[in-house]
Amino acid sequence: MKVVLLAYTQGADAICAAAGSSCYSARPSAEIAKDVDSEKTLSRIVGMGHLSVVEHAVFTFSVEGVSRALTHQLVRHRIASFSQQSQRYVSLKEPTFVTPPTVKGDPEAERVFSETMDAIWDAYRRLEDMEIPAEDARYLLPNGCTTNITVTMNARELLHLFSLRCCSRAQWEIREMAERMLELCREVSPVIFKDAGPPCVRGPCPEGKLSCGKPRRPSA
Ligand SMILES: Cc1cc2nc3c(=O)[nH]c(=O)nc-3n(C[C@H](O)[C@H](O)[C@H](O)COP(=O)(O)OP(=O)(O)OC[C@H]3O[C@@H](n4cnc5c(N)ncnc54)[C@H](O)[C@@H]3O)c2cc1C
Repeated sequence: MKVVLLAYTQGADAICAAAGSSCYSARPSAEIAKDVDSEKTLSRIVGMGHLSVVEHAVFTFSVEGVSRALTHQLVRHRIASFSQQSQRYVSLKEPTFVTPPTVKGDPEAERVFSETMDAIWDAYRRLEDMEIPAEDARYLLPNGCTTNITVTMNARELLHLFSLRCCSRAQWEIREMAERMLELCREVSPVIFKDAGPPCVRGPCPEGKLSCGKPRRPSA
């Protein structure tokens, strides 16, 4: 898996802080942005639950070499824009799939897994040889098939994504992607993403009986 931050709002912390402050000031955000204390302002405004101010910050990622199982989960997040490699227009001649760590860790399971993938791709290529279009031959392809996706989200949606998908209840693959995205966001926007991550970073776990019992913040 590779996660690249392709583009982002420059100076997002100051822009969101200035936008928030401008609601309570006679000065416009262009002036406030020059001398705003982003940390103090955003902690106050976002702390009050006024998350709309961080919608002014937008981030675009290239997510490469992940499974379709992951992207199926990712695209459930509705406040986002996605562009995904097409299985209609891109023919997948060679087996290209993600092997879960549980399968990799068991030689017999790995053998079953890779034999099945070889059989699927063999059938896929045979259908293509029969001039069945890629868009129909792809009905054979598995959830583990690799794909590339471009995703754009604003910071409010990213905070929500990190809350759900950095949690240990999320599946390992999407969790790895979310953690890499969070790392990249923090590098360029440390204030907005300061307390980002699963709910146990900020307080008690809301998962009840399904909780993993290992809060990231020991006092939570
Ligand atoms: C651990 C885990 C297990 C899951 N298991 C399943 C499963 O078994 N089956 C399944 O179908 N899904 C499952 N999901 C997906 C989950 O149900 C959500 O579809 C997904 O996490 C997207 O989150 P969301 O709907 O909160 O927010 P997003 O789509 O990211 O939207 C962000 C927020 O905007 C608001 N919003 C967006 N759209 C609307 C709307 N139409 N009306 C009102 N408010 C809206 C909500 O406040 C929402 O929280 C799982 C998710 C996780 C994290």
